[in-house]
Amino acid sequence: MNIALIAHDKKKQDIIHFAVAYRPVLREHTLYATGTTGLKIVEATGLSIQRFRSGPLGGDQQIGALIAENKMDLVIFFKDPLTAQPHEPDISALIRLCDVYQIPLASNMASAELFIHALERGDFHWRHIIRNKGEREE
Ligand code: PGA
Repeated sequence: MNIALIAHDKKKQDIIHFAVAYRPVLREHTLYATGTTGLKIVEATGLSIQRFRSGPLGGDQQIGALIAENKMDLVIFFKDPLTAQPHEPDISALIRLCDVYQIPLASNMASAELFIHALERGDFHWRHIIRNKGEREE
C-alpha cells in the first residue's frame, strides 16, 4: 500500500512515536511524507520514505496530486487542532481530495492505530482492486 505520513509541528513527536511503534508494519509498505515529517521519521526509524516539500511549501498539495491520480491508499495526518496553520487552504484541499476519492484518512493517533491494525489484517485489500481497475481504464 502507498501510505502518506504528515504531522503538524506540535504533533511531530507523536508521529515519531507512532512510526517507531509500528515500524514492522510500516516497513512492508511504500511510504511518502511531507518534508520535515519525513526527515524526522527517517532519523528515528531508518525507514525508507519518499519525501515531498514541507507542508507549507506545497508538500500537502504534492500528496493531494497522488490522491487525485489514485496512487495513495492511506493518509495518516496528525493535525494540530489548536494552532492556526499558514497553509490551511492546502490542508483543506488534501482532506477534501481524500473524501472525493474515498481514501482512508486518519487525522489523529487513535484513528491511525485502528488503521494500522486494519492494514495488518489485510482490510485494505479493496484498495488494490480499485487501483488496478483505475490502471486498466487509463
Ligand atoms: P512538514 O509539513 O512535514 O514539512 O512539517 C507538514 C505540515 O505542516 O503540513
